Amino acid sequence: MIEVVKNFISGEYVNGHSKDKIELYDPSKGEIYGYFNDSNFEDVDRAIKSAKEAFPLWSQLSVDDRAQFMINISKEISIRLEEFSKFETRDTGKPISLSKTLDIPRAISNFEFFAEHGKNLNLVEYLNNNKSNNEIHKSPLGIVCCISPWNLPLYLLTWKIAPALVVGNTVIAKPSEITPYTAYMLGDICNKVGLPKGVLNIINGKGSTVGTKLVSHKEIKAISFTGGTSTGKIIYKNASNSFKKLSLEMGGKNPAIIFDDCNYDIMIKTLVRSSFLNQGQICLCSSRILVEKTIYHKFKEDFCKKVSQLVIGNPLDEDTEFGAISSKDQYNKIYSYINLAKEEGAKILVGGNKVELSKPCDKGWFIGPTVLEGVDQSSKLNQDEIFGPVVTLQSFSSKKDAIQIANDTIYGLSATIWTEDKQKAKDVSGKIDAGVIWINSWLVRDLRTPFGGMKNSGLGREGGMEILNFFTEQKNICIPR
Ligand code: NAD
Repeated sequence: MIEVVKNFISGEYVNGHSKDKIELYDPSKGEIYGYFNDSNFEDVDRAIKSAKEAFPLWSQLSVDDRAQFMINISKEISIRLEEFSKFETRDTGKPISLSKTLDIPRAISNFEFFAEHGKNLNLVEYLNNNKSNNEIHKSPLGIVCCISPWNLPLYLLTWKIAPALVVGNTVIAKPSEITPYTAYMLGDICNKVGLPKGVLNIINGKGSTVGTKLVSHKEIKAISFTGGTSTGKIIYKNASNSFKKLSLEMGGKNPAIIFDDCNYDIMIKTLVRSSFLNQGQICLCSSRILVEKTIYHKFKEDFCKKVSQLVIGNPLDEDTEFGAISSKDQYNKIYSYINLAKEEGAKILVGGNKVELSKPCDKGWFIGPTVLEGVDQSSKLNQDEIFGPVVTLQSFSSKKDAIQIANDTIYGLSATIWTEDKQKAKDVSGKIDAGVIWINSWLVRDLRTPFGGMKNSGLGREGGMEILNFFTEQKNICIPR
Protein backbone atom coordinates (compact mmCIF):
# COMPACT_ATOMS: atom_id res chain seq x y z
CA MET A 1 0.00 0.00 0.00
CA ILE A 2 1.33 3.44 -0.96
CA GLU A 3 1.17 5.86 1.95
CA VAL A 4 0.49 9.57 1.72
CA VAL A 5 2.28 11.90 4.11
CA LYS A 6 0.59 15.23 4.78
CA ASN A 7 1.35 18.58 6.30
CA PHE A 8 0.17 19.28 9.84
CA ILE A 9 -1.22 22.81 9.96
CA SER A 10 -3.48 24.26 12.62
CA GLY A 11 -3.98 20.82 14.13
CA GLU A 12 -5.14 19.27 10.85
CA TYR A 13 -3.53 16.99 8.32
CA VAL A 14 -3.67 18.57 4.88
CA ASN A 15 -2.04 17.86 1.53
CA GLY A 16 0.56 20.23 0.13
CA HIS A 17 -0.77 22.34 -2.75
CA SER A 18 1.97 21.73 -5.29
CA LYS A 19 1.32 19.20 -8.03
CA ASP A 20 4.84 17.80 -7.59
CA LYS A 21 4.85 14.51 -5.78
CA ILE A 22 7.92 13.69 -3.69
CA GLU A 23 8.45 9.94 -3.50
CA LEU A 24 9.40 8.34 -0.21
CA TYR A 25 11.70 5.32 -0.20
CA ASP A 26 12.60 2.47 2.07
CA PRO A 27 16.38 2.53 1.43
CA SER A 28 16.86 -1.02 2.65
CA LYS A 29 14.71 -2.21 -0.26
CA GLY A 30 15.33 0.62 -2.71
CA GLU A 31 11.54 0.72 -2.99
CA ILE A 32 8.90 3.47 -2.84
CA TYR A 33 6.59 3.21 0.16
CA GLY A 34 4.75 6.51 -0.21
CA TYR A 35 4.82 10.12 -1.29
CA PHE A 36 3.76 13.59 -0.33
CA ASN A 37 2.71 16.57 -2.40
CA ASP A 38 5.39 19.21 -2.26
CA SER A 39 4.24 22.33 -0.45
CA ASN A 40 4.14 25.67 -2.15
CA PHE A 41 3.85 29.31 -1.13
CA GLU A 42 0.19 28.87 -0.30
CA ASP A 43 1.01 26.15 2.24
CA VAL A 44 3.71 28.29 3.83
CA ASP A 45 1.27 31.18 4.14
CA ARG A 46 -1.30 28.90 5.76
CA ALA A 47 1.26 27.65 8.24
CA ILE A 48 2.33 31.22 9.02
CA LYS A 49 -1.28 32.28 9.56
CA SER A 50 -1.87 29.33 11.84
CA ALA A 51 1.28 29.97 13.90
CA LYS A 52 0.49 33.67 14.10
CA GLU A 53 -3.01 33.08 15.43
CA ALA A 54 -1.75 30.62 18.02
CA PHE A 55 1.04 32.86 19.31
CA PRO A 56 -0.82 35.27 21.67
CA LEU A 57 -2.40 32.53 23.75
CA TRP A 58 0.62 30.19 23.74
CA SER A 59 3.13 32.89 24.62
CA GLN A 60 1.04 33.99 27.57
CA LEU A 61 0.85 30.57 29.18
CA SER A 62 3.27 30.03 32.05
CA VAL A 63 6.48 28.13 31.35
CA ASP A 64 5.16 25.41 33.66
CA ASP A 65 2.00 25.02 31.58
CA ARG A 66 3.95 24.85 28.34
CA ALA A 67 6.39 22.41 29.92
CA GLN A 68 3.51 20.15 30.88
CA PHE A 69 2.59 19.83 27.19
CA MET A 70 6.20 18.83 26.46
CA ILE A 71 6.07 16.17 29.16
CA ASN A 72 2.80 14.85 27.79
CA ILE A 73 4.22 14.69 24.28
CA SER A 74 7.28 12.80 25.52
CA LYS A 75 5.07 10.29 27.34
CA GLU A 76 3.01 9.64 24.23
CA ILE A 77 6.11 9.07 22.12
CA SER A 78 7.38 6.65 24.80
CA ILE A 79 4.16 4.68 24.61
CA ARG A 80 4.61 4.38 20.82
CA LEU A 81 8.38 3.84 20.89
CA GLU A 82 8.24 0.59 18.93
CA GLU A 83 6.10 2.09 16.20
CA PHE A 84 8.17 5.27 15.93
CA SER A 85 11.35 3.18 15.78
CA LYS A 86 10.00 0.98 13.02
CA PHE A 87 9.10 3.98 10.87
CA GLU A 88 12.35 5.79 11.59
CA THR A 89 14.16 2.70 10.38
CA ARG A 90 11.98 2.44 7.28
CA ASP A 91 12.77 6.05 6.33
CA THR A 92 16.49 6.00 7.05
CA GLY A 93 17.69 2.40 6.67
CA LYS A 94 19.30 2.53 10.12
CA PRO A 95 19.31 -0.60 12.31
CA ILE A 96 16.14 -0.94 14.33
CA SER A 97 18.24 -1.36 17.47
CA LEU A 98 19.60 2.15 16.89
CA SER A 99 16.17 3.69 16.34
CA LYS A 100 15.01 2.03 19.56
CA THR A 101 17.99 2.93 21.71
CA LEU A 102 19.19 6.22 20.28
CA ASP A 103 16.87 8.09 17.91
CA ILE A 104 13.48 7.77 19.53
CA PRO A 105 14.68 7.76 23.16
CA ARG A 106 16.57 10.97 22.40
CA ALA A 107 13.45 12.57 20.89
CA ILE A 108 11.65 11.65 24.10
CA SER A 109 14.38 13.10 26.27
CA ASN A 110 14.57 16.29 24.18
CA PHE A 111 11.00 17.08 25.25
CA GLU A 112 11.61 15.96 28.85
CA PHE A 113 14.85 17.87 29.12
CA PHE A 114 13.59 21.18 27.76
CA ALA A 115 10.40 20.93 29.80
CA GLU A 116 12.60 21.00 32.89
CA HIS A 117 15.43 23.16 31.63
CA GLY A 118 13.04 25.81 30.27
CA LYS A 119 12.18 26.61 33.87
CA ASN A 120 15.78 27.69 34.50
CA LEU A 121 15.57 30.56 32.05
CA ASN A 122 15.11 33.76 34.08
CA LEU A 123 12.47 35.72 32.22
CA VAL A 124 13.38 38.85 34.21
CA GLU A 125 16.83 39.64 35.60
CA TYR A 126 17.90 42.69 37.60
CA LEU A 127 21.27 44.40 37.35
CA ASN A 128 21.53 47.41 39.60
CA ASN A 129 24.38 49.83 40.25
CA ASN A 130 24.64 53.20 41.98
CA LYS A 131 23.42 55.06 38.89
CA SER A 132 20.66 52.85 37.52
CA ASN A 133 18.42 49.85 37.97
CA ASN A 134 18.22 47.58 34.95
CA GLU A 135 15.47 45.08 34.30
CA ILE A 136 16.27 42.59 31.58
CA HIS A 137 13.18 40.95 30.15
CA LYS A 138 13.23 37.90 27.94
CA SER A 139 10.30 37.11 25.70
CA PRO A 140 9.54 34.68 22.89
CA LEU A 141 10.32 35.83 19.38
CA GLY A 142 7.04 34.91 17.69
CA ILE A 143 7.04 32.40 14.84
CA VAL A 144 10.25 30.44 14.45
CA CYS A 145 11.28 27.83 11.92
CA CYS A 146 13.10 24.55 12.58
CA ILE A 147 14.73 22.82 9.60
CA SER A 148 16.28 19.38 9.99
CA PRO A 149 18.22 16.76 7.99
CA TRP A 150 17.57 13.08 7.24
CA ASN A 151 20.21 11.33 9.32
CA LEU A 152 18.58 11.65 12.76
CA PRO A 153 15.11 12.75 11.74
CA LEU A 154 12.97 12.95 14.87
CA TYR A 155 15.97 13.29 17.19
CA LEU A 156 17.15 16.53 15.55
CA LEU A 157 13.76 18.03 14.79
CA THR A 158 12.61 17.70 18.41
CA TRP A 159 15.98 19.05 19.61
CA LYS A 160 14.84 22.33 18.03
CA ILE A 161 11.07 22.21 18.48
CA ALA A 162 11.11 21.53 22.23
CA PRO A 163 13.19 24.58 23.31
CA ALA A 164 11.40 26.84 20.81
CA LEU A 165 8.00 25.87 22.22
CA VAL A 166 8.86 25.87 25.89
CA VAL A 167 9.91 29.53 25.82
CA GLY A 168 6.64 30.48 24.13
CA ASN A 169 7.25 30.61 20.39
CA THR A 170 5.01 29.01 17.83
CA VAL A 171 6.82 26.80 15.37
CA ILE A 172 6.89 25.85 11.73
CA ALA A 173 8.97 22.69 11.43
CA LYS A 174 10.33 21.45 8.11
CA PRO A 175 11.68 17.90 8.29
CA SER A 176 13.90 16.54 5.57
CA GLU A 177 11.93 15.62 2.45
CA ILE A 178 13.81 12.30 2.50
CA THR A 179 12.65 11.20 5.96
CA PRO A 180 9.43 12.99 7.00
CA TYR A 181 7.48 10.08 8.46
CA THR A 182 8.11 10.31 12.20
CA ALA A 183 7.54 14.09 12.10
CA TYR A 184 4.25 13.31 10.37
CA MET A 185 3.38 10.99 13.28
CA LEU A 186 4.17 13.74 15.76
CA GLY A 187 1.11 15.70 14.60
CA ASP A 188 -1.16 12.97 15.96
CA ILE A 189 0.57 13.17 19.29
CA CYS A 190 0.16 16.95 19.47
CA ASN A 191 -3.57 16.52 18.99
CA LYS A 192 -3.73 13.66 21.49
CA VAL A 193 -2.19 15.81 24.26
CA GLY A 194 -4.38 18.79 23.30
CA LEU A 195 -1.57 21.07 22.16
CA PRO A 196 -3.42 24.21 21.02
CA LYS A 197 -3.92 24.29 17.27
CA GLY A 198 -1.25 26.16 15.35
CA VAL A 199 1.40 26.00 18.08
CA LEU A 200 3.34 23.42 16.09
CA ASN A 201 2.94 23.23 12.31
CA ILE A 202 4.85 20.67 10.26
CA ILE A 203 5.31 21.37 6.61
CA ASN A 204 6.82 18.99 4.07
CA GLY A 205 8.68 20.00 1.00
CA LYS A 206 11.91 20.47 -0.82
CA GLY A 207 14.51 22.85 0.51
CA SER A 208 14.63 24.71 -2.78
CA THR A 209 10.90 25.47 -2.71
CA VAL A 210 9.32 25.53 0.71
CA GLY A 211 12.64 25.88 2.58
CA THR A 212 13.57 29.00 0.60
CA LYS A 213 10.17 30.55 1.19
CA LEU A 214 10.32 29.90 4.93
CA VAL A 215 13.82 31.26 5.28
CA SER A 216 13.00 34.53 3.56
CA HIS A 217 9.54 35.04 5.08
CA LYS A 218 9.33 38.27 7.06
CA GLU A 219 7.01 36.80 9.71
CA ILE A 220 9.58 34.20 10.73
CA LYS A 221 11.87 35.60 13.38
CA ALA A 222 14.46 32.86 13.71
CA ILE A 223 15.74 29.83 11.87
CA SER A 224 17.32 26.90 13.60
CA PHE A 225 18.87 24.79 10.86
CA THR A 226 20.79 21.54 10.85
CA GLY A 227 22.12 20.26 7.56
CA GLY A 228 24.94 20.62 5.08
CA THR A 229 27.36 23.54 4.99
CA SER A 230 26.45 24.48 1.42
CA THR A 231 22.76 24.72 2.42
CA GLY A 232 23.73 26.73 5.49
CA LYS A 233 25.43 29.26 3.21
CA ILE A 234 22.29 29.66 1.09
CA ILE A 235 20.15 30.06 4.20
CA TYR A 236 22.53 32.67 5.60
CA LYS A 237 22.18 34.67 2.40
CA ASN A 238 18.42 34.26 2.00
CA ALA A 239 17.71 35.20 5.61
CA SER A 240 19.77 38.36 5.46
CA ASN A 241 17.05 40.63 4.03
CA SER A 242 14.88 40.12 7.08
CA PHE A 243 17.68 40.08 9.72
CA LYS A 244 16.50 36.85 11.28
CA LYS A 245 18.24 35.18 14.15
CA LEU A 246 20.13 32.20 12.76
CA SER A 247 21.50 29.08 14.31
CA LEU A 248 23.32 26.92 11.77
CA GLU A 249 24.52 23.42 12.64
CA MET A 250 26.41 22.09 9.65
CA GLY A 251 28.88 19.51 8.38
CA GLY A 252 32.08 18.11 9.81
CA LYS A 253 35.22 16.16 8.97
CA ASN A 254 36.01 15.02 12.45
CA PRO A 255 39.43 13.75 13.50
CA ALA A 256 40.03 10.97 16.03
CA ILE A 257 43.52 11.47 17.47
CA ILE A 258 44.97 8.29 18.94
CA PHE A 259 48.11 8.40 21.08
CA ASP A 260 50.07 5.27 21.97
CA ASP A 261 49.36 5.72 25.70
CA CYS A 262 45.58 5.36 25.35
CA ASN A 263 43.44 2.62 26.86
CA TYR A 264 43.72 0.53 23.70
CA ASP A 265 40.78 -1.84 24.10
CA ILE A 266 38.26 0.86 24.94
CA MET A 267 39.63 3.03 22.14
CA ILE A 268 39.30 0.34 19.46
CA LYS A 269 35.78 -0.57 20.50
CA THR A 270 34.66 3.07 20.56
CA LEU A 271 36.42 3.93 17.32
CA VAL A 272 34.46 1.29 15.39
CA ARG A 273 31.30 2.85 16.75
CA SER A 274 32.33 6.47 16.26
CA SER A 275 33.32 5.74 12.66
CA PHE A 276 30.40 3.61 11.55
CA LEU A 277 27.37 4.14 13.76
CA ASN A 278 24.35 4.94 11.57
CA GLN A 279 26.52 3.92 8.56
CA GLY A 280 28.81 6.86 9.32
CA GLN A 281 25.93 9.25 8.75
CA ILE A 282 26.19 11.19 11.99
CA CYS A 283 27.68 14.66 11.78
CA LEU A 284 29.87 13.76 14.78
CA CYS A 285 31.29 10.54 13.31
CA SER A 286 35.07 10.23 13.18
CA SER A 287 36.04 10.30 9.52
CA ARG A 288 39.78 10.96 9.77
CA ILE A 289 41.62 8.59 12.07
CA LEU A 290 45.03 9.89 13.09
CA VAL A 291 47.19 7.33 14.85
CA GLU A 292 50.57 7.77 16.55
CA LYS A 293 53.25 6.12 14.42
CA THR A 294 54.35 3.76 17.22
CA ILE A 295 51.03 1.90 17.23
CA TYR A 296 49.87 2.54 13.67
CA HIS A 297 50.36 -1.01 12.33
CA LYS A 298 48.82 -2.73 15.30
CA PHE A 299 45.90 -0.32 15.23
CA LYS A 300 45.36 -0.83 11.51
CA GLU A 301 45.22 -4.58 11.89
CA ASP A 302 42.94 -4.64 14.94
CA PHE A 303 40.63 -1.89 13.69
CA CYS A 304 40.16 -3.46 10.25
CA LYS A 305 39.47 -6.85 11.83
CA LYS A 306 36.74 -5.42 14.05
CA VAL A 307 35.23 -3.33 11.25
CA SER A 308 35.03 -6.43 9.02
CA GLN A 309 33.02 -8.17 11.74
CA LEU A 310 30.19 -5.61 11.78
CA VAL A 311 26.89 -7.31 11.01
CA ILE A 312 25.49 -5.75 7.84
CA GLY A 313 21.91 -6.67 7.15
CA ASN A 314 18.22 -6.00 7.03
CA PRO A 315 17.76 -2.97 9.31
CA LEU A 316 14.66 -4.56 10.79
CA ASP A 317 16.66 -7.52 12.17
CA GLU A 318 17.47 -6.94 15.81
CA ASP A 319 21.05 -8.16 15.42
CA THR A 320 21.90 -5.90 12.47
CA GLU A 321 24.65 -3.45 13.38
CA PHE A 322 25.02 -1.71 10.04
CA GLY A 323 22.13 -0.84 7.74
CA ALA A 324 21.47 0.93 4.45
CA ILE A 325 22.47 4.34 3.12
CA SER A 326 19.49 6.66 3.52
CA SER A 327 19.03 7.85 -0.06
CA LYS A 328 20.06 6.92 -3.58
CA ASP A 329 21.75 10.31 -4.04
CA GLN A 330 23.80 9.80 -0.91
CA TYR A 331 24.64 6.25 -2.02
CA ASN A 332 25.92 7.57 -5.38
CA LYS A 333 27.83 10.35 -3.68
CA ILE A 334 29.63 7.91 -1.38
CA TYR A 335 30.50 5.69 -4.35
CA SER A 336 31.95 8.64 -6.20
CA TYR A 337 34.36 9.14 -3.29
CA ILE A 338 35.27 5.46 -3.25
CA ASN A 339 35.99 5.69 -6.98
CA LEU A 340 38.11 8.75 -6.32
CA ALA A 341 40.07 6.77 -3.75
CA LYS A 342 40.75 4.12 -6.42
CA GLU A 343 41.78 6.79 -8.96
CA GLU A 344 44.13 8.37 -6.46
CA GLY A 345 45.74 5.01 -5.73
CA ALA A 346 44.60 4.80 -2.12
CA LYS A 347 44.65 1.40 -0.47
CA ILE A 348 41.19 0.09 0.39
CA LEU A 349 41.80 -1.91 3.56
CA VAL A 350 38.17 -2.84 4.18
CA GLY A 351 34.97 -2.46 2.13
CA GLY A 352 34.69 -0.20 -0.88
CA ASN A 353 32.31 -2.62 -2.54
CA LYS A 354 28.59 -3.14 -2.95
CA VAL A 355 27.10 -5.38 -0.30
CA GLU A 356 24.89 -8.14 -1.69
CA LEU A 357 22.03 -9.08 0.60
CA SER A 358 19.19 -11.50 0.17
CA LYS A 359 15.53 -10.56 -0.21
CA PRO A 360 13.88 -8.26 0.82
CA CYS A 361 17.08 -6.19 0.85
CA ASP A 362 18.56 -7.36 -2.46
CA LYS A 363 17.82 -4.01 -4.13
CA GLY A 364 18.67 -1.89 -1.10
CA TRP A 365 21.33 0.81 -0.96
CA PHE A 366 24.06 -0.83 1.07
CA ILE A 367 27.73 0.14 1.11
CA GLY A 368 29.96 -1.71 3.53
CA PRO A 369 32.14 0.09 6.07
CA THR A 370 35.19 1.29 4.18
CA VAL A 371 38.67 2.01 5.52
CA LEU A 372 41.22 3.83 3.34
CA GLU A 373 44.94 4.21 3.73
CA GLY A 374 47.50 6.25 1.81
CA VAL A 375 45.28 9.25 1.14
CA ASP A 376 47.02 12.59 0.94
CA GLN A 377 45.83 15.15 3.51
CA SER A 378 45.06 17.56 0.68
CA SER A 379 42.83 15.02 -1.14
CA LYS A 380 39.07 15.64 -1.24
CA LEU A 381 38.82 12.34 0.66
CA ASN A 382 40.42 14.06 3.64
CA GLN A 383 38.87 17.48 3.05
CA ASP A 384 35.23 16.95 2.00
CA GLU A 385 32.49 15.70 4.25
CA ILE A 386 31.55 12.35 2.66
CA PHE A 387 28.85 11.65 5.28
CA GLY A 388 28.91 7.91 4.89
CA PRO A 389 30.83 4.82 5.99
CA VAL A 390 34.24 5.89 4.72
CA VAL A 391 37.20 6.69 6.97
CA THR A 392 40.85 7.39 6.23
CA LEU A 393 43.83 6.33 8.35
CA GLN A 394 46.89 8.54 8.76
CA SER A 395 49.86 8.31 11.09
CA PHE A 396 51.48 11.15 13.01
CA SER A 397 54.76 11.41 14.86
CA SER A 398 54.20 14.20 17.39
CA LYS A 399 51.50 16.12 19.23
CA LYS A 400 52.19 19.12 17.02
CA ASP A 401 51.89 17.02 13.89
CA ALA A 402 48.54 15.58 15.06
CA ILE A 403 47.11 19.02 15.85
CA GLN A 404 48.20 20.38 12.50
CA ILE A 405 46.55 17.55 10.54
CA ALA A 406 43.42 17.65 12.70
CA ASN A 407 42.88 21.37 12.08
CA ASP A 408 43.66 21.23 8.38
CA THR A 409 40.10 21.33 6.98
CA ILE A 410 37.41 23.99 6.64
CA TYR A 411 35.37 22.20 9.31
CA GLY A 412 35.43 22.33 13.10
CA LEU A 413 32.57 20.31 14.49
CA SER A 414 33.96 17.61 16.78
CA ALA A 415 37.08 15.65 17.65
CA THR A 416 38.02 12.73 19.86
CA ILE A 417 41.35 12.45 21.64
CA TRP A 418 42.67 9.17 23.00
CA THR A 419 45.36 9.25 25.70
CA GLU A 420 45.67 8.36 29.37
CA ASP A 421 47.89 11.41 29.91
CA LYS A 422 45.53 14.05 31.28
CA GLN A 423 47.91 16.94 30.61
CA LYS A 424 48.39 15.85 27.01
CA ALA A 425 44.62 15.57 26.54
CA LYS A 426 44.20 19.07 27.93
CA ASP A 427 46.97 20.55 25.75
CA VAL A 428 45.69 18.96 22.57
CA SER A 429 42.00 19.72 23.18
CA GLY A 430 42.92 23.38 23.77
CA LYS A 431 44.48 23.56 20.33
CA ILE A 432 41.90 21.71 18.27
CA ASP A 433 39.40 23.92 16.44
CA ALA A 434 36.18 22.07 17.19
CA GLY A 435 33.03 22.90 19.12
CA VAL A 436 32.74 19.47 20.75
CA ILE A 437 35.74 17.46 21.96
CA TRP A 438 35.54 14.06 23.56
CA ILE A 439 38.46 12.67 25.55
CA ASN A 440 38.59 8.85 25.61
CA SER A 441 34.92 8.67 24.64
CA TRP A 442 32.43 9.57 21.96
CA LEU A 443 28.82 10.77 21.83
CA VAL A 444 28.55 11.15 25.59
CA ARG A 445 26.03 13.98 25.90
CA ASP A 446 24.88 16.25 28.68
CA LEU A 447 22.04 18.19 27.08
CA ARG A 448 22.86 21.28 29.18
CA THR A 449 26.15 21.81 27.35
CA PRO A 450 26.46 24.09 24.31
CA PHE A 451 26.50 22.12 21.08
CA GLY A 452 27.77 23.27 17.71
CA GLY A 453 30.73 23.77 15.45
CA MET A 454 33.47 26.24 14.63
CA LYS A 455 34.66 27.39 11.19
CA ASN A 456 32.36 26.10 8.41
CA SER A 457 30.65 23.66 10.77
CA GLY A 458 28.44 26.08 12.57
CA LEU A 459 27.18 29.44 13.57
CA GLY A 460 25.93 29.73 17.15
CA ARG A 461 25.31 26.95 19.61
CA GLU A 462 22.29 24.82 20.41
CA GLY A 463 21.46 22.86 23.55
CA GLY A 464 21.16 24.02 27.16
CA MET A 465 20.74 27.72 27.88
CA GLU A 466 22.20 28.67 24.50
CA ILE A 467 19.19 27.55 22.53
CA LEU A 468 16.69 28.90 25.08
CA ASN A 469 18.34 32.32 24.79
CA PHE A 470 18.46 31.97 21.01
CA PHE A 471 14.70 31.53 20.89
CA THR A 472 14.06 34.67 22.99
CA GLU A 473 14.32 38.41 22.49
CA GLN A 474 15.88 40.52 25.25
CA LYS A 475 14.88 43.97 26.36
CA ASN A 476 16.72 46.06 28.93
CA ILE A 477 14.64 48.62 30.81
CA CYS A 478 16.91 51.10 32.52
CA ILE A 479 15.62 53.34 35.32
CA PRO A 480 18.04 55.94 36.70
CA ARG A 481 18.26 55.91 40.48
P1 NAD B 1 20.72 19.40 3.60
O1 NAD B 1 21.44 20.65 3.88
O2 NAD B 1 20.62 18.95 2.21
O3 NAD B 1 19.20 19.50 4.12
C1 NAD B 1 18.89 19.80 5.46
C2 NAD B 1 17.51 20.43 5.51
O4 NAD B 1 17.58 21.71 4.86
C3 NAD B 1 16.43 19.64 4.78
O5 NAD B 1 15.22 19.73 5.48
C4 NAD B 1 16.32 20.38 3.45
O6 NAD B 1 15.08 20.26 2.82
C5 NAD B 1 16.54 21.81 3.91
N1 NAD B 1 16.99 22.72 2.84
C6 NAD B 1 17.71 22.41 1.73
N2 NAD B 1 17.90 23.53 0.99
C7 NAD B 1 17.30 24.54 1.65
C8 NAD B 1 17.15 25.93 1.40
N3 NAD B 1 17.66 26.50 0.31
N4 NAD B 1 16.48 26.69 2.29
C9 NAD B 1 15.95 26.12 3.40
N5 NAD B 1 16.05 24.81 3.69
C10 NAD B 1 16.73 24.02 2.83
O7 NAD B 1 21.36 18.32 4.55
P2 NAD B 1 21.07 16.79 4.58
O8 NAD B 1 21.68 16.16 3.38
O9 NAD B 1 19.63 16.57 4.86
O10 NAD B 1 21.86 16.33 5.90
C11 NAD B 1 23.22 15.99 5.91
C12 NAD B 1 24.04 17.15 6.44
O11 NAD B 1 23.59 17.54 7.72
C13 NAD B 1 25.51 16.76 6.63
O12 NAD B 1 26.29 17.80 6.13
C14 NAD B 1 25.66 16.66 8.14
O13 NAD B 1 26.95 16.92 8.63
C15 NAD B 1 24.70 17.72 8.58
N6 NAD B 1 24.35 17.52 9.97
C16 NAD B 1 24.87 18.37 10.89
C17 NAD B 1 24.58 18.18 12.22
C18 NAD B 1 25.12 19.11 13.27
O14 NAD B 1 24.64 19.09 14.38
N7 NAD B 1 26.11 19.93 12.96
C19 NAD B 1 23.75 17.13 12.62
C20 NAD B 1 23.24 16.27 11.64
C21 NAD B 1 23.55 16.47 10.32
